[in-house]
Parts: sequence; structure tokens; C-alpha cells
Amino acid sequence: MSYSGPTDLYIDGEWIASESGETFETVDPASEDVYATVVQASPDDVDAAVAAADRAAGRDSEWRSMDPRERGKRLNAMADAIEDRKEEIVLVESHDNGKTPFEAGLDVDMVIDTFRYYAGWTDKVQGDEVPVPGNRFNYTVREPLGVTAHVIPWNYPFQLAGRSLAPALACGNTAVLKPSSTTPLSAMYYALAAEEAGIPDGVVNVVPGRGSTAGNALVEHPGVEHIAFTGSTGVGKGVMERAAQNVTGVTLELGGKGPNIVFPDADLDAAAGGVHYGIFMNAGQMCWAGSRLLVHEEIHDEFVDRLVERAEATTLGSGIDDDGRMGPVVDESQQAEVLEYVETGKEEGATVATGGGVPESRDEGYFVEPTIFTDVTNDMTIAREEIFGPVLSVIEFADREEAIEIANDSPYGLMSGIWTTDLETAHTTAEYLDYGMVSINEYPVTQPQTPFGGFKESGSGREQGTEALHEYTQTKNVNVNLD
Ligand code: NDP
Repeated sequence: MSYSGPTDLYIDGEWIASESGETFETVDPASEDVYATVVQASPDDVDAAVAAADRAAGRDSEWRSMDPRERGKRLNAMADAIEDRKEEIVLVESHDNGKTPFEAGLDVDMVIDTFRYYAGWTDKVQGDEVPVPGNRFNYTVREPLGVTAHVIPWNYPFQLAGRSLAPALACGNTAVLKPSSTTPLSAMYYALAAEEAGIPDGVVNVVPGRGSTAGNALVEHPGVEHIAFTGSTGVGKGVMERAAQNVTGVTLELGGKGPNIVFPDADLDAAAGGVHYGIFMNAGQMCWAGSRLLVHEEIHDEFVDRLVERAEATTLGSGIDDDGRMGPVVDESQQAEVLEYVETGKEEGATVATGGGVPESRDEGYFVEPTIFTDVTNDMTIAREEIFGPVLSVIEFADREEAIEIANDSPYGLMSGIWTTDLETAHTTAEYLDYGMVSINEYPVTQPQTPFGGFKESGSGREQGTEALHEYTQTKNVNVNLD
């Protein structure tokens, strides 16, 4: 099936070709066929998008001066437009990224909820009165930043774009969205939704293109006031460095190596379900994947048996097969990288309990078998690096202190999980984990209302919840001398 949605750049309310005339192709990872040819934004196009967003963000612009309640209505209308097109977006995302329709459906639902959540905040972003000495009146105002850039990876293309767009727009900012060149298509649906919701021209701009050209031009642009970057820690560090040249604010949502800690008193059925879901969902291509399983020595063998059974019962399917429970990884190079990690795991002494290769049942598509390694120690490459594929590394521990020590011994600090029926174990372990998110007896879980972000090299700043309202506003202090 071929793609029939938009493929042009969306700048200042117009669908246009690139100045350079260049295009690029996207491939369906389940069939290895070209799925769409998309216009490729050049640095000049990025310049035009930032200029349009800048005009639309001006103090007297329609968007900036709009009654906040009206802005909320338009965000709700964007949510409605996305909801109306849900089926189409799910199909496009499945073809473009490889995720199953079930997974793509969850992503679209999360975006709808996120837009509705922030639509409710538009008339509640307020300042404070500050008690100061003397005969003075002192207050703060929370103002929008202006042009915000949104640089998005390929693993959750639609959901991650919506996660930062919704709060940025709710706070009265304008946006330039650069999706990954691996999965550029679902981003187009934000432009369609903005058009249908009556969002003024220039408020939402979409510039599909390569990271090294369009992405680079966007993060270096002096007209951009804030960069919401979601992607790898390596690229994120470079973005931060370049943003510093213009003192541009950044929110960095980067990689992870999540520990899922299973204590012997846990409900093992529930834990096995959560651990399985936490690593094989989205074919393991998740920043918050529970890619390290820390399991107590008393239950190690029994628990691994349960996981192996589940992994071997997982059906692999193309993005559009209804019975496919795990899709392919996103492209050929990602498949090669994951398989290389598997080889490294073996060479370093870990044991493949199941999987470890390309499934024989599929003769096309970039599939990798659900893979579980046992006999892993925390110094092995497969325990330290983000594999970004369906590979679980199982590490044994003897007591809580050791579990916490292993969990925290990582450059990352994004998502962590705890499985126990003991309240004291749950809360004490949560207190000691150096992670931005801890989930107890459920993995992984997040909502538009809850802050999302990491400690250490997993990032800086937070998306979602009320925290994002701080990321997308700046405080102005006004002092009035009353003498
Ligand atoms: P990358 O860092 O490779 O790319 C992320 C985005 O940055 C893409 O749009 C990419 O464009 C763009 N980009 C690449 N190079 C540059 C550059 N020099 N300047 C500006 N932009 C650039 O990440 P992946 O797409 O490979 O995504 C996987 C990573 O994302 C994993 O590490 C994962 O953990 C992380 N992630 C973090 C999340 C979080 O919330 N913490 C959520 C989801 C993923 P292009 O693709 O066209 O090269």
C-alpha cells in the first residue's frame, strides 16, 4: 500500500516544495519497500520556517494576543482533528516506523490526551505577587518564549512531537517541527490538524529533512528561543553545545538503560508481564525500555523461565498484520547494530537464553528475535549501552542494597521499575534510585499529567505535566515604586 498523505514542507500555512528541489525516500521496515518520497528541507527552508514562526509569535500577533480560552479551544480542535484522522495516522505510522497498529494507536491516543490536557492550561499560566520590602508592588508574569524548535527521533515519531508541541503552543509559543528523516510522515498530520483547527499561519511549521542539514540549521538558528530535543545522548550533547552559542534554552530527552528490579516477594505473573512489555514493546526501541532486568537470586531461574516462555510465544509481524505482536526494528542499519550487540554479549560471556538472531519465519523485513541474555554482569557492554532493540540483559542480585547499587551504576537515569508486594521495600528502593521516573508494580507507564525526563546523561529539563509549562515560558518581574 502506498502513502497518499502530504509530502511537502509546511511553512507559514502553505504546503511548499524545498528551495533546493531535493527529496528523500522513506522505507517500510516490514516489507523493505519505499513507502513515500518526501520533500527535503534545506537550511534556507529552515530559515523561512523560523522567520514565519517569528512573525506569528510577535507581541501583537493574532496568536500571542489571542484570549487564552480561545487558544485552548483551538488546541482542543487540534485534538479533535487528530482523533478524526486516527485510523489514517495509525496506518501511516505503522508503515513508516514498523510499529504494530496497536502500538501506533496508543501513541495517537496519548497525543490526543496531551493536547486536551494542555488545552485546559492555556488560561491558568499565571505569575505571582512578590512580597518585597518598602512601599512597592512587585509581581511576576509568565510570558511565552517565542519560536520553539522540536527535533524528534524515529522511535515514537508522532507521540514525541505532540508531547512537546502541545505545551509549547498552550503557552503561546510558535513551533518549527523537524521529524526524523527515517520517519517523517506522521509529523505532516500536525500541519493538517493545525489547518483544520484554525491555528494562525506560521504558528505550526513542519520541515522534514536530515539531521545534519535541516536539524543542524534549526538548532543553530539565532531566531529560535527554545529547543525541545529528543534523541540520542551523543547528538543531544552536540545540540546543547551549539545552543550555547545563542544562549538558547534546551530540553533534552535522551537515552536510557532502565533497570527493572524484581524482588522475591513480587507477584511474579504481573512482573513477568511488565518486564516483557517493558523490553519488547516497540521492538525494544524505547528510551525508557527496561533493558536491564535485576532479579533476586532466589527466584532467578523460575523467573527467567517465565520470560523465555513469553518471548518465544511472541509472534512477529509486519506493521499492518493484526496478529503481529512485535514489529521489525526501524531499518537495516538498526537491525545490524542490534545484532552486533548480541555478538558482543556472547563474546563477553553472557548466555543467550532465547533469541539472538533474525527469525527464520520472516524472509523480508528488519526483524530481530526477542532476545534474553542471562549471566550478565553490569560491566558488560550489553548492560551499559543502550541497545535500542529487543534485547534484555538479566543480572542477579542478593539483596536490596546490591540491587540499588547495580541499578545506579549507569551513565543513564531515565526510567526504573520495582516489583514487590512490600511497601517499605517499594518506597525505600524508589527513594534511593537515581532515576527521573520510578514505576512500582507496572512498567513502563506515563501520562500527560506526569513529568517525563531523566537524571544524569538521560537529559535535562522535563516534558509533560505542569513542569513543561515552566520549560515553555519565561518569567518577567515587574517592580512598581508606590512612593
Ligand atoms: P538521534 O539523536 O540520532 O536523532 C534525533 C533527532 O535529531 C532526529 O530528528 C535527527 O534527524 C536529529 N539530528 C541528528 N543529527 C543532528 C544534528 N547534528 N543537529 C540537529 N539534529 C540532528 O536519535 P534517534 O533518532 O536515533 O533516536 C533514538 C534515541 O532517542 C535513543 O537514544 C533514545 O533513547 C532517544 N529517545 C529519548 C526519549 C526521551 O524522552 N528521553 C524518547 C525517545 C527516544 P535524522 O533522524 O534525520 O538524522
